[in-house]
Amino acid sequence: MKPPPFDYIRVETSDEAVDLLAEYGDEAKIIAGGQSLMPMLNMRLVRPQVLIDIAQTSDLRGIIKKGKAIEIGATTTQADLGSWSDLSSTLPLLASAIPSIGHFQTRNRGTVCGSLCHADPSSELPACLMLLDGEVELKNKKGTRRVKADDFLIGVLTTAKQDEELAIKAIYPVAQDGAKYAFTEFHHRHGDFAVVGIAGMVVDNKIRIAVGGVADRPEVREWQSLEGSAIDDALNDFAWELRGSDDIHATAQHRRELVRHLGRQVIDNLHVQKNHELSQ
Ligand SMILES: Cc1cc2nc3c(=O)[nH]c(=O)nc-3n(C[C@H](O)[C@H](O)[C@H](O)COP(=O)(O)OP(=O)(O)OC[C@H]3O[C@@H](n4cnc5c(N)ncnc54)[C@H](O)[C@@H]3O)c2cc1C
Repeated sequence: MKPPPFDYIRVETSDEAVDLLAEYGDEAKIIAGGQSLMPMLNMRLVRPQVLIDIAQTSDLRGIIKKGKAIEIGATTTQADLGSWSDLSSTLPLLASAIPSIGHFQTRNRGTVCGSLCHADPSSELPACLMLLDGEVELKNKKGTRRVKADDFLIGVLTTAKQDEELAIKAIYPVAQDGAKYAFTEFHHRHGDFAVVGIAGMVVDNKIRIAVGGVADRPEVREWQSLEGSAIDDALNDFAWELRGSDDIHATAQHRRELVRHLGRQVIDNLHVQKNHELSQ
C-alpha cells in the first residue's frame, strides 16, 4: 500500500519545528529517520495532514557528555551513537544493545529519539532508558521540560509527549563506577524486533533488570543481594507479574520462559563480569 496524501515541510531548526507543531497540533507528525513512521503511513495506520521533517535541522544533531549524562540530539542516528568512540566507556549497556536494533541500514536512518518516541514495547533503546533511569527532553513554543523514562513511556506506541512537543534530546546516565551492564534478546531472525529483550545492571550487590517485549512497555525490577536459586525464583515471579499475552510472535508461556532464561543469562553475565574484576 501507499500512504494517503500529506503535505511535507522540511525544517532547518527546532524553533521552526515547534512553531509548525503549534500550528497543526494533532494533524502533524514529526518524521526523523522514517524507519517506523513510513511503514505506519504505508499501512495507513496514521494519516497526518502534514509531515515535518527534522532530519536536516542544524541544532539537533550530536552527542555531548554533560556531567554524569550523555545527551543525544534528536537527529542523531542509532548508527552515529553505535560508532561514537566513547560509547563503550560511557554507555556500555548501549554498546551491547545497539547491534540488536534492526539492520545497519535501518540504524543508518533511524534515530535514538525516534525509537523512544515510537515506544514499541520490544525496542532496545526504551528498555535501556528505563533501566538507566534516563530522561527525554521535550520542547514546545513555550520552553522545554525533561521527563523521566518511567513517566515518558506510557504504553504501546504511547508516550507522555504532547502533540505540540518535539523531543530534542535523549539523556542516558553515564555508567556508574563499579557497575556492570549486559543486554541480551531473543528474536526469530536477525534484524527482527525482539520477542523478549533484557537489559541488566549490577552495582554493589543490587541487581536491576528491564524487560522489553512482554508488558505494554519495558518494565524494571530491582533486587538486593540475589544469589543461587533465589535468582530463578525472583525471575519467575517477575515473568508472571509482567502479564504477557499470546500474539503471532510467541505465546504468553513462551515469553515467561524467555524472561526466566534470558534473565538468568543476563544476571550470570553480570556476576561473571564482577568476579572477573575482583580477581584482577
Ligand atoms: C526492517 C526494520 C527492522 C527494525 N527493527 C527494529 C528493532 O529490532 N528494534 C527497534 O527498536 N527498532 C527497529 N526498527 C525501527 C527503527 O529502530 C526506527 O528507527 C525507530 O523505531 C524510529 O526511529 P526513526 O528516527 O526512524 O523515527 P520515525 O520513523 O521518523 O518516527 C517514529 C515516530 O516517532 C515520532 N518522532 C520521531 N522523532 C521525533 C522527535 N524528535 N520528536 C517527536 N516525535 C518524534 C514520529 O512522529 C513517529 O510517530 C526497525 C525498522 C525496520 C524498518
